[in-house]
Amino acid sequence: MQKIMIIEDDPAVRRELSLLLENERYQVLAVSDFMDILSQFQTFDPDLVLLDLGLPDEDGFTLCMKLRNISRVPIIFITARDSSMDELQALNLGGDDYITKPYNIPVLLARIKTVLRRAAGSQEPDRMEARGLSISLSGGIACAGGQTIELTRNELRILAHLMQHPGEIVSRTELIDILWDNHIYIDDNTLSVNITRLRGKLEEIGLPDYIKTRRGMGYQI
Ligand code: CA
Repeated sequence: MQKIMIIEDDPAVRRELSLLLENERYQVLAVSDFMDILSQFQTFDPDLVLLDLGLPDEDGFTLCMKLRNISRVPIIFITARDSSMDELQALNLGGDDYITKPYNIPVLLARIKTVLRRAAGSQEPDRMEARGLSISLSGGIACAGGQTIELTRNELRILAHLMQHPGEIVSRTELIDILWDNHIYIDDNTLSVNITRLRGKLEEIGLPDYIKTRRGMGYQI
């Protein structure tokens, strides 16, 4: 069941949206306490957030920025305002879509489905190959020269991203971003630890220099 978090201060709209989405078989959390939205977000861990722009304490834009600091969750703004300025700002701040009240229900549901589908589809393909190494994301393994190693989820993500860009330098920031969609912040040191462990494993299957360090710039395969 996909989870949708509703952040809307108007109780009538909130109730209407909750019922509507529950009828569509989503699991819904409608926030009614606006003091600690971020911790409610982290506990519920939604697949999508519906975010009202006009909220009692801080507006939806500010909240969107805060959510973006900790998560890549899809965000759809729902608001009575309808200037193109707001729309642009919403999308610039990392919103995925923008719907104005009064909303048309079939359109709202269609947009939710589209954003959820897009979020699911942005994941990497399951099997990848580059420079003598192949990986299976669902199998959690990497193979080279007939040998196989098991990799952790983070190690796989790092490798998958580097393998999608062979010959290109990938910055540390970019990799940290890749590791970061499960709402848990990854710091610089965590990335270093993962890279070191990954290199150790690749060495076991005969690829000790597979990931090169480009000093001050990032990594490259
Ligand atoms: Ca409002």
